[in-house]
Amino acid sequence: MQSRPPSSAIIVGSGIVGAATAYFLAKRGTAVRLVDAAAPAAEATGAADGAVSVASKKPGPMMAAALKGVRLYGELADDGIFAGAFKRRSTFIIASSDEEGSVLEAHSKALASAGVVVETLSASGLRSALPALSPAATMAVEVHGEGHAIGYQIVHRLLTASGIVVERNLRVDGLVLEAGGSRVAGVATSEGSISADLVVIAAGNGSARLLGLSDVLTPRKGQLLVTERAPALNSAMRGAIMSGRYLLSKGSQNTGHAPPARGLGLVIDPLVTGQFLLGGTREDHGDRETNDIDAVARILREAVALIPQLANLRLLRSFAGTRTAVTDGLPLVGKIPGVANAYVATGFEGDGICLGPVTGKSIVQLICGETPDIDLSFFDPARFANLELSA
Ligand SMILES: Cc1cc2nc3c(=O)[nH]c(=O)nc-3n(C[C@H](O)[C@H](O)[C@H](O)COP(=O)(O)OP(=O)(O)OC[C@H]3O[C@@H](n4cnc5c(N)ncnc54)[C@H](O)[C@@H]3O)c2cc1C
Repeated sequence: MQSRPPSSAIIVGSGIVGAATAYFLAKRGTAVRLVDAAAPAAEATGAADGAVSVASKKPGPMMAAALKGVRLYGELADDGIFAGAFKRRSTFIIASSDEEGSVLEAHSKALASAGVVVETLSASGLRSALPALSPAATMAVEVHGEGHAIGYQIVHRLLTASGIVVERNLRVDGLVLEAGGSRVAGVATSEGSISADLVVIAAGNGSARLLGLSDVLTPRKGQLLVTERAPALNSAMRGAIMSGRYLLSKGSQNTGHAPPARGLGLVIDPLVTGQFLLGGTREDHGDRETNDIDAVARILREAVALIPQLANLRLLRSFAGTRTAVTDGLPLVGKIPGVANAYVATGFEGDGICLGPVTGKSIVQLICGETPDIDLSFFDPARFANLELSA
């Protein structure tokens, strides 16, 4: 049943998910307050790679959601909001061993059956599509219709288009419940309480404390590198290169391998600037302040093994960010159980740049009693019975 959009709303967190939710709610006429303990895109959104990609998704609800996510990026680019901020390109998933080859074949079938346009390239086809690739690569799958976007640029576009100014350095400490406890009146912040008709928690790793889900939402560090510009090499690459091992590191296929405590799923992304973004690790902790030489050396070694000419480039920058992972591998998006007017959208791990805008749109559709663009039933927070609001 359709319901009127709320007159006012508080969104906690101005990463890509909070910013997209704010944008789509503001479009409906809701007066939105977007609050952040730090600043827009201060956490994972500002430290991500930015693959807007179905290629890496696990078959099932995540792959289906990513298809919608990529499509929405295209629409918003055509509408002008993301124009110039969404680079359309293919992803080439490369196999360099028999194990990667068999994972890749299974994954390619899953992508094709979800409706993704994929093309298998033999070693010789691969050489003409990507001349810079090492002879060690034995086969590849080209996933068409993908793209790349820088998370903080997308946040900036969403905020600019909606005219929303983020209330910075305003930490939310809990929800303020109305008498009876079945509705929220607003949120308690570091500077006192603020009220609204509706609250959406999109606080990334900060959501764990607000929802009492520290055992369910876990930080997962990633380290990334950026090279100097290399326009000739960059323009010869028709898309991103993803090592078949990425699928193993992400557990994207049921291979019987548990993802290791520190995995590396190598992605080499030719940026519009002419630089290359190389990454990234998947580490079971949350220290985003440091890069370590072992991780940097390993990323460089594996990148050069796939594209030998990268060895001629200088490394300009290394950085790290912390994704928010959920123990069962699916995000947490929907109504907070037992509370009529509070919602959560978090736990996107390594997929939130792709899924952020479509999640913002879908949660607003849910709030307004419409059928969401993505099937949110798989992501329902009610699956965690221990969820307990911090009030
Ligand atoms: C190294 C790395 C590579 C990645 N690569 C990709 C990729 O290629 N493709 C892809 O799709 N995704 C990628 N991701 C994942 C993506 O970055 C995240 O899934 C996405 O940014 C999550 O957005 P978010 O809005 O949920 O959370 P965040 O960006 O973490 O934002 C949460 C915000 O909430 C604020 N906050 C927290 N607690 C509170 C509180 N109590 N009160 C008020 N505010 C609070 C924080 O300050 C922060 O600004 C990558 C991530 C990393 C780290």
